[in-house]
Amino acid sequence: MADVFDKTTRSEVMRKVRSKENQSTEIRMIRLFRENGVTGWRRNYLVKGRPDFVFLKQRIAVFVDGCFWHGHDCRNTRPKDNADYWQKKRERNQRRDKEITALFKSRGWIVVRIWECRLKKVKGIDLAAWRNSNILRFIYR
Ligand SMILES: [Zn+2]
Repeated sequence: MADVFDKTTRSEVMRKVRSKENQSTEIRMIRLFRENGVTGWRRNYLVKGRPDFVFLKQRIAVFVDGCFWHGHDCRNTRPKDNADYWQKKRERNQRRDKEITALFKSRGWIVVRIWECRLKKVKGIDLAAWRNSNILRFIYR
């Protein structure tokens, strides 16, 4: 089936979808922090790569990655129309994710990436455990 929107409108629509998704996942994350008594997070801290949350003292950057935008293959969210376009976009995002992760790591930060779909499964948040791990963290994959 052909897309009901032209390309420009589709981009616009998807941008709105993304911003809505971001908001709801961030709210869920904040709820998780609160439930676990985790404090000290900053939201939307202005630093290159724009992590969703940072813990400045512990130097932890938290990214909640939207499954569609960052290419998680957990569910069938691949539009058939303009498949090439979306595939390229996901690949770009994934490349950028890697670069940003490497950048933070090179500055002594711990990077925690959580798939949006796995947020429900996160039980307990232990910043010290995150921080004490000297390896790059890709958790809750
Ligand atoms: Zn997912």
